[in-house]
Amino acid sequence: MTSLPSAVSNQIESLQIDSTKPMLLCDADEVLLQFLRGLEVHLNNEGYLLDLVSFSLFGNIKHADNGTAASREDVSSLIDGFFAGHMHTLEPVSGAAESLAALTPDIQIIVLTNTPQPQRQARAQILAKHGMAYPVIANQGLKGPAAKALAAQTSGPTLFMDDIPHNIDSVLEHAPRAKAIHFVADERLRPLIPAAPAALHRVDEWHLAEPLIRKALLG
Ligand SMILES: [Mg+2]
Repeated sequence: MTSLPSAVSNQIESLQIDSTKPMLLCDADEVLLQFLRGLEVHLNNEGYLLDLVSFSLFGNIKHADNGTAASREDVSSLIDGFFAGHMHTLEPVSGAAESLAALTPDIQIIVLTNTPQPQRQARAQILAKHGMAYPVIANQGLKGPAAKALAAQTSGPTLFMDDIPHNIDSVLEHAPRAKAIHFVADERLRPLIPAAPAALHRVDEWHLAEPLIRKALLG
């Protein structure tokens, strides 16, 4: 098992957590925010295009003029540039804000997102702009250690939502009492990501996810 970076544990320690309420740990990109669509606009502006033939950005970001794949270095720098300067352009996933608002009287929501630490605030701001002003933890790497530390702070049940199967596996390994829902917002990504076997459900739309979250956390 991997350990929790101190930069992440410090954020968790500063949260106000209700020790009795059920907890929803929710990924941001492709669950609450349309990351891929936002990134694609940035890529196009920079002279690249996204040609999604597999669940990977590497290999599928191509030079617009000749169709050759961008190098790993170029892809990393394009993504870093997007996070650093274009986070505020992200649009919300349809229905996410409404469903979370409907759940909040009974459930505490924490956004657990892989975001560079310096952009934690920008991430919280774009979520708030779209009606999702919830605490944000800027995680690094797999999400199991952070989810374990968060889940330990409530006696209620914990549910984790993410689009990446590795994160679901990691959370269920580190926090075995937690449950998970596998959610993929982008319609092009959906067929490229097989359902995570350990998740309770694979569901890709918020109006369908909301009752499943309620049932998983409130019975
Ligand atoms: Mg995601």
